[in-house]
Amino acid sequence: MPVTICAPAGGTAGRRRKTKRAERAPRMRKGPAAGTYAAPLLLLLGAAIVSCGGRPSERGEPVKSAEERTGAAAGDSAEGGGESEGDLAEAIVRLSAGAAGNAGITQAGFPDHLRLVLEKAELPGDLSLDILAAASENPAFILDFLSCLEGDPFLRRLVDKQHPLPPYYEPDDLVPLRPSSYETSRGDLRLRQEAAGALEEMAASARDGGVVLVVSSSYRSYDYQAVVYARNVQEMGQENADRESSRPGFSQHQTGFAADFGSITDAFAETEAGLWMAENAGRFGWSLSFPAGYEEVTGYRWESWHFRYVGKELAAFIDNYFGGIQQYALRFIHEWEAAERTVSSAP
Ligand SMILES: [Zn+2]
Repeated sequence: MPVTICAPAGGTAGRRRKTKRAERAPRMRKGPAAGTYAAPLLLLLGAAIVSCGGRPSERGEPVKSAEERTGAAAGDSAEGGGESEGDLAEAIVRLSAGAAGNAGITQAGFPDHLRLVLEKAELPGDLSLDILAAASENPAFILDFLSCLEGDPFLRRLVDKQHPLPPYYEPDDLVPLRPSSYETSRGDLRLRQEAAGALEEMAASARDGGVVLVVSSSYRSYDYQAVVYARNVQEMGQENADRESSRPGFSQHQTGFAADFGSITDAFAETEAGLWMAENAGRFGWSLSFPAGYEEVTGYRWESWHFRYVGKELAAFIDNYFGGIQQYALRFIHEWEAAERTVSSAP
């Protein structure tokens, strides 16, 4: 029996059969279909210079006002509306001060810097336009972004097939999961402390609604992931193993912030827990890592059961500005911070 990325020791008979759900758009509250962002980025980035003032809604897309984005950095975001030039300038100054302490990005240089980061992050053209517009209109985007740059860097760390964790990384605040509002499918599960607390909060809300969440997999060490991956290669061949599992050092599970829920099969999406998670996980800081239709973007096939805790601020940032696609937001932040380090270390 093949063992998969998220089921190091579990039944997987149905794993390779895609359900109808897998062919449809990702299960997100406001996610775009994969084809939504089809326009060539470079052409659009040129166009963005003249279209920055236009709201996404003018291009026929839904847009949320700052007031509607209740989940995003609530106490910090300024009023929306676009007329607050002073607030925008102040927000840019705050962002430019940056975690790295650099002052290299001026308000005048901010749009160009943002365009460069979007280009390096290789985001779809339409999405880049939306972000340029959001950042140009009012301070909310920048203040929300700032709130994502605070807190533990591993919450926002890009961990994908090109970006491994530090060698043999192991978080130092892993805690055993102690089922209360939720259940576990085995007894030795651990998560980082903050994620464990957020899991309890989410599960309590689910249980209030009559839904019981079951955690099936959580933190995995480098060595354990090595065993899982080797077994997958042996059982399903290299190509399939890479679609469904991570090489050691490249797994979100090694961050201690990722968890798999329920059956770890496509069938999970249609269960009460799967439907509840798709609708509500973001409110508690949990983000679907590998949505349907985004294998080319994430590197992994659809996994309706795999969620990563990113914190409430970043979860809202992903949903509000990146169409719910975690990979896009993490790539954007990764390139922002990389550019910041470059500016900081320049002579
Ligand atoms: Zn997983």
